[in-house]
Amino acid sequence: MLTDYHLHLRSDALSASAAEHFTTANVERYRAVADERGIEELGVSEHVYRFAQALEVWRHPFWVETAQDDLDSYCAFVREQTDLRLGIEADFVPGAEDRMANLLGERDYDYVIGSVHFVRDRAVDHEDYDIWQTARSPEEVWRRYFQMLGEAAGSGLFDVLAHPDLVKVWGRERPRPEGDLRRYYELAMEGIAGSGIAVELSTAGLRKRAGELYPAPAFLEMALQAGAPVALSSDAHSPEEVGADYERALELLERLGVGEVCVFDRRRRRLEALGASPARGHSSGGTGDLAPSSGEAGGGAPAS
Ligand SMILES: [Zn+2]
Ligand SMILES: [Zn+2]
Repeated sequence: MLTDYHLHLRSDALSASAAEHFTTANVERYRAVADERGIEELGVSEHVYRFAQALEVWRHPFWVETAQDDLDSYCAFVREQTDLRLGIEADFVPGAEDRMANLLGERDYDYVIGSVHFVRDRAVDHEDYDIWQTARSPEEVWRRYFQMLGEAAGSGLFDVLAHPDLVKVWGRERPRPEGDLRRYYELAMEGIAGSGIAVELSTAGLRKRAGELYPAPAFLEMALQAGAPVALSSDAHSPEEVGADYERALELLERLGVGEVCVFDRRRRRLEALGASPARGHSSGGTGDLAPSSGEAGGGAPAS
């Protein structure tokens, strides 16, 4: 089984309307690329802040600008007109946990992906609210980011922790702290270990200036040791990005001894053996000696 659970049916541009992109024809384009790449299980996870209902949770200026669509129409479209799993990408907003829990609890998602895009009101990956303009040092940015990531993991709000070291998104344009970065990753591990959350391995970082998978291998290794299972995603914002660079992700998983991937259904998780779907051909490099797709795998954390 291969999954791609972190999909957006449209780009982040405000001009990319729901009416234009939440269509069966658009979903078929995503499905066609997934079939080519042997990815059986697809789920869509639009940003919570694109929906008007999100303003009940937070009224950050960015959310006020972007929250235009109707969440019920999105859920109804995915459930009634597609064969995609229904997910959502929800931000962790400290102090608004109850409001976010209420919003998420009102609809029957298959999974909720939890993200840290903002540290307080400053953005990690958005130039308009750039945290790097106000932070005193890279150390401060990384420390605060990973502390908040741990809080997000431990909040119990989410099934999957998205793009875990997103703070590196700008690559060389923003300095990284010196030395061994595991001292920052460590800040998030208690939250991850205590929560049972799955950690996303995302190929999106390869398409950003970072030019790396999210998260870094050392982070993933620590998360595995903390008992976290892996969810596999591309964070595609267009059909051709579905499953993009999965051979790189599968190579890393193989190297770390991970043979199973999370599958979600109505917020219940099971593990399935990793491998491209044989029915649809195409096996990416690095999957050769992984077990073929099968029924329910025995559970338990992947070996690390
Ligand atoms: Zn995100
Ligand atoms: Zn996303």
